[in-house]
Amino acid sequence: MRYYQLQEPHYAAPRIWSGTYRVERRWGLPGIECPECHQTWSDFRSYPAVDVSHLTGRKELEDGWPRPYAEYVRLAERVRPFCPPDVVLTPGSMFGPLHGTARGRFGPLTLVSIWGVLVREDLLQTLQAEGIRGIVPVRPEFKKAPSPALWELHLLSGGRLYPDGRFPPPPALPCSVCGWQDLSAYFSSRVELSSLPADLDVFHLVDAPLRILATERFVEIAQSCGASDVVFKEVETEPPSHHA
Ligand SMILES: [Zn+2]
Repeated sequence: MRYYQLQEPHYAAPRIWSGTYRVERRWGLPGIECPECHQTWSDFRSYPAVDVSHLTGRKELEDGWPRPYAEYVRLAERVRPFCPPDVVLTPGSMFGPLHGTARGRFGPLTLVSIWGVLVREDLLQTLQAEGIRGIVPVRPEFKKAPSPALWELHLLSGGRLYPDGRFPPPPALPCSVCGWQDLSAYFSSRVELSSLPADLDVFHLVDAPLRILATERFVEIAQSCGASDVVFKEVETEPPSHHA
């Protein structure tokens, strides 16, 4: 099975579609200041299907500025009961549908900067009809909904980067308190083959959630619905996978 990373085209490359958007998410866990490793970080993991709109004190989730680690832990514990068990919570995780505006015409697949993936309704229906795994559609809250409709995909975390070893010393272990890890040793973007999820066709990497990966089947179906302003870059795995 081949895997592809979904990427936005080079900023100067011509676009096929006129669609533009301005969106954000209402709620999220704060970034942290770690008492152990002294890093200040957020990883901007998006979980649109996690609904915290009824959580008491959700106002505290409206400001993503870094806070002391204990504060982050307290808020993460309050969000946890609202999450499916396979949701990985990290500092900066964000919840609920996108809201904002979308204008113009959109292709079958659209990458929404740091936020995730939008699929056009015809592609969503085709993915579902073909039994593509890991498809959890969430309707964004657009002031004026585009036509055809766009849906966001709620992505689960799966797969890990492979340490390249090109930059000795070998990669430091994650921080024992907050889990922060120096990924500068992961220069090559290779992914550990054994870490790839067997039950998902589209997901974000556990340790690099802004990298969205999809299987060959997902990509073929997306392309069968027409061209998108998305670059599909084949992912190198370690060890290399053998294509039959
Ligand atoms: Zn730490």
